[in-house]
Amino acid sequence: MSLSSVQSTLSNLKSCQGDIDAYMDVVSDVALGIVEAEGTTDSPALKKLEKMMLQCSELDREINCFVGSVEEMTAQVRHQPPDAMFNLRASVKDRFSQVMGGVSDADLQRHTKVIAFKESIRKYAMQASQAATENDEEELDDDIAFTQSETNFTCPLTKVEMVNPVKNKKCQHYFDQEAILEMIRARHRNKKKCRCPNVGCGNTDFQESDLELDFVMKRKIQNQKRQSAKT
Ligand SMILES: [Zn+2]
Repeated sequence: MSLSSVQSTLSNLKSCQGDIDAYMDVVSDVALGIVEAEGTTDSPALKKLEKMMLQCSELDREINCFVGSVEEMTAQVRHQPPDAMFNLRASVKDRFSQVMGGVSDADLQRHTKVIAFKESIRKYAMQASQAATENDEEELDDDIAFTQSETNFTCPLTKVEMVNPVKNKKCQHYFDQEAILEMIRARHRNKKKCRCPNVGCGNTDFQESDLELDFVMKRKIQNQKRQSAKT
């Protein structure tokens, strides 16, 4: 086992995590489609999708634990005589089982995408029932009810339609994930506070931890696209 082969394995695993991430987005969107079509959160299909999300969360955690164990053990090996390399495999294995021994099922629920999945379903169903009440007298067209919102889909940073919308929990402003993370991290690297880039916003200390994924917003944007493609 050489350090360079360890590095390439780790980068493969990390790209695998990118795939899991993308897959979780797809599952979440399918779930919202079910809520949209059935107008309820009781569908058995949603339960199945939630199970899939938890499986992804589990896989993601396992990779994190493994990558963590490898990084920890290889860091130790660097400061030891060269023959310590021979034990790397065994020490990673030990460390990994130790870490995995300490995990619980409750952790799986704490994955940001699992949280966003549940929250989005709840929010979407609520909005759907509100829209249905408002349109009580008229024939309800789900597509229209879901897209007739005054919401602005443009990211204040990129000035174009958001791709992965995230919301700041404190000031409720939306941004495209990549753009806002880049901005926050750049400010924090320079040891400066990041103020909310939304013009006129009083939030002067914008933290990465204040951001939450919003699958509902993402779906609304996609619905609007589908709608405008039809007309
Ligand atoms: Zn703001």
